[in-house]
Amino acid sequence: MDQQVRVRFAPSPTGPLHIGGVRTALFNYLFAKKHGGDFILRIEDTDQTRYVAGAEEYIIEALNWLGLPFDEGPGIGGDFGPYRQSERKEMYRNYADTLIKSGHAYYAFDTSEALDAHRKDHEAKGKTFIYNWHNRLKLENSLALSSEETQKRLDNNDAYVIRFKTPENESLPLKDMIRGGMQIDTSVLDDKVLFKSDGMPTYHLANIVDDHLMKITHVIRGEEWLPSLALHILLYRAFGWDAPKFAHLPLIMKPVGKGKLSKRDGDKMGFPVFPLQWKTAEGELYSGYREDGYLPEAVVNMLAFLGWNPGTEQELFALEDL
Ligand code: GLU
Repeated sequence: MDQQVRVRFAPSPTGPLHIGGVRTALFNYLFAKKHGGDFILRIEDTDQTRYVAGAEEYIIEALNWLGLPFDEGPGIGGDFGPYRQSERKEMYRNYADTLIKSGHAYYAFDTSEALDAHRKDHEAKGKTFIYNWHNRLKLENSLALSSEETQKRLDNNDAYVIRFKTPENESLPLKDMIRGGMQIDTSVLDDKVLFKSDGMPTYHLANIVDDHLMKITHVIRGEEWLPSLALHILLYRAFGWDAPKFAHLPLIMKPVGKGKLSKRDGDKMGFPVFPLQWKTAEGELYSGYREDGYLPEAVVNMLAFLGWNPGTEQELFALEDL
């Protein structure tokens, strides 16, 4: 690889890091080490409503316990910490404005009542309401405003969000290092919010801007983000930036039933779901691998073997071997 490999683990501090997140961190860490690259920790804390106190400290302590320390952060050389999006929030607004100026985003003043009314109206006709600029123009009670009307609302200090303007009817090619090539019709996409009325960027905007500014070469993350890939590719294009390569990892699923592994599954099955012990604000205590006496090396070895095998009889791998 000619470019310096840079990957990031970008958890949201909405609770303790669970074992699925650790696996994502592990894959990022190993990929960085294999290529002599950098492993960055970025705390994505722009959603204030879901912030859980102590979660960030937990994430860092858990990564250190597992032997997966991050390489870079603000204040490097001294007591450096991870990047935190809440500390960079002013910057994201400029990027949202750039997209408005270039016609790739717009102010939306719609109330949730107006949106619900349109949704219900569509449902009554057996249709799905896809919320995008082009459909807005077609609505009887149009939500799309002219630039004069928009200016009037802005002057009036009306609350708004900034939405991405998804291109109409385009067949967009997508590439994933695990899934291969895919194609998506952009007319099925809603115009996602990039900037919220509370003055904070959404995950999508902050994530793309940061991956670009931090020169991330490979985005390795859970498969739950695959549905966002089209929007992310469109955002890179709208900014005129090269997109990194993407790898969406299959999730760790529940041993029984359906869906993603959750904290309660571990208790049912008799194994921890968290690396370290975690006590919720309600006083619920979840056991962790560390407190249960597992060695960090064993946890890493077990995670590496989920969905992968070396094709040999070797069962024990240290981080260096991996
Ligand atoms: N903050 C997102 C999460 O909590 C990160 C997704 C990504 O890696 O792009 O999963």
